[in-house]
Amino acid sequence: MHHSVSYWPPNGNCQRCKAKKVDSLIMSIFNTQMICGKCDDAEIAHPQYGVAKAKELEETKAGNYNFNGIGLPPELEGGGHDGKH
Ligand SMILES: [Zn+2]
Repeated sequence: MHHSVSYWPPNGNCQRCKAKKVDSLIMSIFNTQMICGKCDDAEIAHPQYGVAKAKELEETKAGNYNFNGIGLPPELEGGGHDGKH
């Protein structure tokens, strides 16, 4: 499943908090952004994370491999963490 795989990024920048040259990026559970570990931690800590995960599993089971997530909660815009890099 694409959300559980870490990628070496094409340019090394987080697409959400704009952290530069991070070691690896992972796809957001809420949308299709490639995000850094800090943004991923913020997603995991978010109350909607379980909902997003369950929805993706449901879509995948239904054969929809192009599901793009339930949408990014506004409080996670820009990372949702203190952003010190
Ligand atoms: Zn980030």
